[in-house]
Amino acid sequence: MPTVGSSWGRYPHVTQNIVPLHWRGAELPTPDGTLLAYGNGRSYGDSCLNDAGNLLVTRGLDRLIAFDPGSGILRCEAGVLFSEILDLVIPQGWFLPVLPGTKFITVGGAIANDVHGKNHHRAGTFGEHVRQFELLRSDGSRLLCDRTQNSELFHASIGGLGLTGLIVWAEFSLQRIAGPWLATETLRFENLAEFFALSSASEKDYEYSVAWIDCCAPEAKLGRGLFMRANHAQVSNAKRPPRQRHLRMPFTPPLSLVNRASLRLFNTLYYHRPIAAHGLSHYEPFFFPLDSIAEWNRMYGPRGFLQYQCLVPPQNSAEVVAELLRIIARSGTGSFLAVLKTFGEREAAGLMSFARTGTTLALDFANAGPSTFALLDRLDAVVAAASGSVYPAKDARMSSAHFRQYFPQWEKLQTHIDPKFSSSFWRRVTE
Ligand SMILES: Cc1cc2nc3c(=O)[nH]c(=O)nc-3n(C[C@H](O)[C@H](O)[C@H](O)COP(=O)(O)OP(=O)(O)OC[C@H]3O[C@@H](n4cnc5c(N)ncnc54)[C@H](O)[C@@H]3O)c2cc1C
Repeated sequence: MPTVGSSWGRYPHVTQNIVPLHWRGAELPTPDGTLLAYGNGRSYGDSCLNDAGNLLVTRGLDRLIAFDPGSGILRCEAGVLFSEILDLVIPQGWFLPVLPGTKFITVGGAIANDVHGKNHHRAGTFGEHVRQFELLRSDGSRLLCDRTQNSELFHASIGGLGLTGLIVWAEFSLQRIAGPWLATETLRFENLAEFFALSSASEKDYEYSVAWIDCCAPEAKLGRGLFMRANHAQVSNAKRPPRQRHLRMPFTPPLSLVNRASLRLFNTLYYHRPIAAHGLSHYEPFFFPLDSIAEWNRMYGPRGFLQYQCLVPPQNSAEVVAELLRIIARSGTGSFLAVLKTFGEREAAGLMSFARTGTTLALDFANAGPSTFALLDRLDAVVAAASGSVYPAKDARMSSAHFRQYFPQWEKLQTHIDPKFSSSFWRRVTE
């Protein structure tokens, strides 16, 4: 049945036919129109949408197939959530090798966007830990893909935006841990030079690092923020896990709650909040600060919001990030949680993977209409001039010209795309 839907950013809204999947052995449905797999809709823009086509909803593919607690190798259907895996494996001393900022993503979505986390400098992207998966193509073929069999399709599907077919199940390696606790450290930095110094000083000794940056700071305080770094604590049961609170944004306010005044106030207070230099943190608030409020994306009102995540190469990261922050501060918009992180020198397994060496900046912008789009175009001009790129998983508006510049390998991906598969994103940036 045609249904109007949107992704996590609640922009754009499209009409698509929902086709739920239930079993990994079933044949691929063959409705009229194009197909696209849908994980848990945690992408922000239109890469998980298929306007006027069909969405193969994979959450019904939710079975764990095999887990070896000796080696930490897990095989599961593609609709299993990271949250479900963490619940299963942490008590057995294992952890996911790469975690994005939400645990509510599926294994299929993690592969198709080749997601990154706070340990990119150590562990690369999720695709690096994937051993094999089964790809179901629209001609009915089931292809086992790994680094030796169907290896081109393996690399094209990692970060392949769901276009090479349906990933039915996947097998990947986990990481050993002592327990769910992290030894954390939080440090205030005054400017970007201090951020880059902290970042490079932390790479060797800290597994995880990330910074929150005050995107409203005036020129004299440009680039100030809080730097968080952490390692897995070598304790299994340090203290009682935090109580699960079930907060929910109860309704969509008629207007965005995020505006110039609330942003300024939040950013100033957050920067000056008392911080405990050293601490012991449960993994959930450290990795997933936003997951504690269900449906927080409603806060931006009925027009939704746009996330902008870019990557700039290391040579001129400091100047380019400063220029981006200046443009954002002048616009008076931006987000509560602006994130800055340096990526390490890991070669991604995916043909189209976003993460590569450099610095990534991510922020949310309430959708205020043409002024927001014009602002993001200005940011794109700076990123493109610096030979950077923008993350398709978070995008709803980059131009076709910019996409082709950011991902010159897109034409190679096209040779691996399943002829029945397409997405709103792909049509927007390639047609
Ligand atoms: C709060 C928050 C924080 C985030 N932080 C990060 C972060 O730190 N790092 C990061 O990299 N990302 C981050 N993201 C983005 C998110 O991790 C990715 O967009 C992820 O791909 C979403 O997974 P999903 O299961 O919801 O997939 P969806 O969003 O539903 O789909 C994503 C893509 O995967 C494809 N796909 C899904 N399942 C399959 C399948 N079985 N076979 C083939 N293709 C499939 C879809 O076609 C689509 O192209 C964040 C998102 C949120 C909401």
